[in-house]
This record gives sequence, C-alpha cells and structure tokens, in this order.
Amino acid sequence: MKHRLLFLGPPGAGKGTQAQLLASTHGLLHLSTGDLLRAEVAAGSPLGQEAEAVMARGELVSDALVLAIVRQRLQGQAEGGGWLLDGFPRNLPQAEALAALLAELGQPIELVVLLELDDAVLIQRLLSRGRADDNEDVIRHRLEVYREQTAPLIHYYREQGLLKPVEAHGTVEQIGARITALLE
Ligand code: ADP
Repeated sequence: MKHRLLFLGPPGAGKGTQAQLLASTHGLLHLSTGDLLRAEVAAGSPLGQEAEAVMARGELVSDALVLAIVRQRLQGQAEGGGWLLDGFPRNLPQAEALAALLAELGQPIELVVLLELDDAVLIQRLLSRGRADDNEDVIRHRLEVYREQTAPLIHYYREQGLLKPVEAHGTVEQIGARITALLE
C-alpha cells in the first residue's frame, strides 16, 4: 500500500525525523521542502541564493519558488508511488496550489498527520539541534510564522476530514509507533 501523506506541525516537532523513518519503512518518496532548499543553498544555485537570506531570517521562501520544486518532484514520481510531504504546504495559498496539482495528477491526499508539542519543548529541541537558523530569536520568529501562516491549515484539513493529531512527546520510537498506528 503506497500512502500519500502530509506532515504538519511546528518547527521542532520532529516532522523531518518521523517523515524520514516512515518513508524508508514504507518505501515512500520523502519530500522535505526545507531539505531541498538547504541543498540548493549549499549548491549555490540561483534558487539557493534567492532563498538563503529569507531562510536565515526564519521567514517563508516565496510560494512560486517552493511550488516549482514540489511540482517537479511529484510529477517525476511514478504513478501509484507513494509520497510524504514534510514542511509543505506552509500557508493557505500553498495548500490550494497543492490541491490543484494533486487533482491534476489524480493523487488525492490520504491523511494529514499533525505533530503536536508544547512551545517550551520545541524551543529546547531546536536549540540543541544547532542548524544555521536555530538561534533563539530566529526560532521565536519561525514559531510566530508557523502560528500565523501555517496553523490555519489545521482547520483547512480538519474540515476536509483528513487531519489526524499525534502527540509528539516521547522517544522517536514511541512517536513513530503512534503514527504507524494511524496507517493501519
Ligand atoms: P523547520 O521544520 O525547523 O521549520 P524546515 O526545514 O521545514 O524546518 O524549514 C526551514 C526553512 O526553510 C523555513 O524556515 C523556510 O524559510 C524555508 N521553507 C521550508 N519549506 C517551506 C515552504 N513550504 N514554503 C516556504 N518556505 C519554506
């Protein structure tokens, strides 16, 4: 069974870790817009040069740029191959563009996994990770951006009957087991 999943949740909730795990155990394409953008930055491509400063400030890269990346990868995925989107969509226009793209591809979303965690724990996790955009001011700003722009997607997907909340505290294995249980 090839799943088509979306991971939603604040920065630091463990989306990347859980997405990677689930993608490898279930043979799904793992599409992390954050990872793809960081690879562009590292490669010094024009796209990466455009994204770098925006990411360092903890703001969202333009919808057009992110959409182009996602569209290309999803179109390249064999029909019937499952996928897992992590870090995308991040605002309502991205969610609407994704819906249009998936309608075009005939591949509806099966499930939206919402990872939930307290701010205090999120900040602790992010500070211990030490990525370039993981200093305290930028982290606070990313949480604000999440609340203002991404959190409205919770309502959007709940209304469509797709949302499944998961408590994101505990060990990687415990959280992974909660997510796997949703798929059965
Ligand atoms: P985190 O889960 O810690 O927020 P990500 O790797 O998902 O980390 O994202 C890191 C940064 O990459 C974001 O702060 C943002 O600047 C950029 N980014 C990632 N995905 C998107 C997206 N879908 N739209 C716009 N910007 C994005």
